[in-house]
Amino acid sequence: MSTVHDVVIFGSGPAGLTAAIYSARANLAPVVFEGLQPGGQLTITTEVENFPGFPEGVDGNELMAKLRAQAERFGTVLRSERVAETWFDERPLRFRVDGGEEMLAKTVIIATGASARYLGLDNEIRLQGRGVSACATCDGFFFRDQEIVVVGGGDSAMEEALFLTRFASKVTIIHRRGELRASKVMGDRARKNPKIEWALFSQPVDVVGENGVEGVVVEDTRNGERRTIPCTGMFLGIGHTPNTEAFAEWFETDDKGYLVTKPGTASTTIPGVFACGDVQDSIYRQAITAAGSGCMAALEAERWLEANED
Ligand code: NAP
Repeated sequence: MSTVHDVVIFGSGPAGLTAAIYSARANLAPVVFEGLQPGGQLTITTEVENFPGFPEGVDGNELMAKLRAQAERFGTVLRSERVAETWFDERPLRFRVDGGEEMLAKTVIIATGASARYLGLDNEIRLQGRGVSACATCDGFFFRDQEIVVVGGGDSAMEEALFLTRFASKVTIIHRRGELRASKVMGDRARKNPKIEWALFSQPVDVVGENGVEGVVVEDTRNGERRTIPCTGMFLGIGHTPNTEAFAEWFETDDKGYLVTKPGTASTTIPGVFACGDVQDSIYRQAITAAGSGCMAALEAERWLEANED
């Protein structure tokens, strides 16, 4: 455990890998712990149409493979483990990764992102992998010519629903209000798709089926009336929860559990620990803002090391 790394990065989405590119180019030999989902959320998305520089769009996996290659080109060390425990009250900063190895770092950049949320229904957990999913691109293929539902009224739900129309015979979007939260362009695209139907003012209260999903029970949010929408798949598109289990105890978090950084910076309340990307951003959550904040975190880590050289 004697090596003290200059920069260790938790997470390998656009934030973590951008931080790696910048700190590797500054000769800081960063070590990236890629975590459970190497490449992050973009690896389970379809086409990324809004990342600058790709006028025709770019496949999420391809974009992340390029960022990874760019980070490696300048000497980033990529490791597949997840960070399990941290001791950020010590100097150097200490942490343990899955498998038990403990490591030391002068600075840590947290870029662990966020994970899809579930509704919290008992049967939803029982039927996960048997019709309940939060990843259209992973599981959509299994629903060819079937009727499915997507829960949520934001961009994620629209994107999932649109993607799923490639396979399903019908996709019903279940949303608890009459108005969408999604951007106009995404909402309009969904409205124009002939395979998409709408269950507005509807909140799922149960998902039914013995060995697989057979229907979703929804409650009308205006009058409490219940009905069952027959379907073989329920996809969740209701937002995300930040991935902070291994270190939340050391930081100030907001009411949704996101790490708080000093305004306009990537600095946390712990000197030498920086946060970037979705783990500290409940507002923008875009690949490009994540990448931008990853750059900020790396530059701040570099300056912090210069100022604390001894
Ligand atoms: P979001 O914008 O927070 O939307 C979550 C949706 O789920 C909302 O419609 C919300 O309803 C609903 N919801 C939340 N909890 C619920 C519950 N317990 N029961 C029922 N419904 C629930 O999340 P998102 O769609 O994941 O988008 C996050 C960010 O990523 C946004 O900034 C979005 O623009 C961006 N994004 C962009 C793209 C793209 O540009 N192609 C694609 C995906 C995501 P209410 O509206 O009633 O609150």
